[in-house]
Amino acid sequence: MSEEPIDPADIGGEDGPPVAEKPYKIIFEANKCIGAGKCAEVSENWELDLSTGIASPKQYFIDESELDENIRAAEVCPAKKDVGVIHVIDRETGDELAPDPHGDGTLSVDW
Ligand code: SF4
Repeated sequence: MSEEPIDPADIGGEDGPPVAEKPYKIIFEANKCIGAGKCAEVSENWELDLSTGIASPKQYFIDESELDENIRAAEVCPAKKDVGVIHVIDRETGDELAPDPHGDGTLSVDW
């Protein structure tokens, strides 16, 4: 588990546990987190560090059972003018499942 944001070039890459085990992953724009803590309210995977005022995921790679709460976290995150800085990626297709502001699965990171 890493505390570092994941490089977008890594999308669909070979890092992490097998895709069959953890079919989804999180890409987090930590530098754009405004510490609103909404993510932690809706998902156990997210924690707000009160000393830094920045949230972080406990796990970057998630399975089906953890998908919904992380999608919810991505959707409620108010950073970046409400687009959000939590991205949930389908590792198989490389598509962004949430927040997907473009509606076409492209990654909405803005490093
Ligand atoms: S909801 Fe977004 S801005 Fe707020 S703490 Fe979580 S990641 Fe950061």
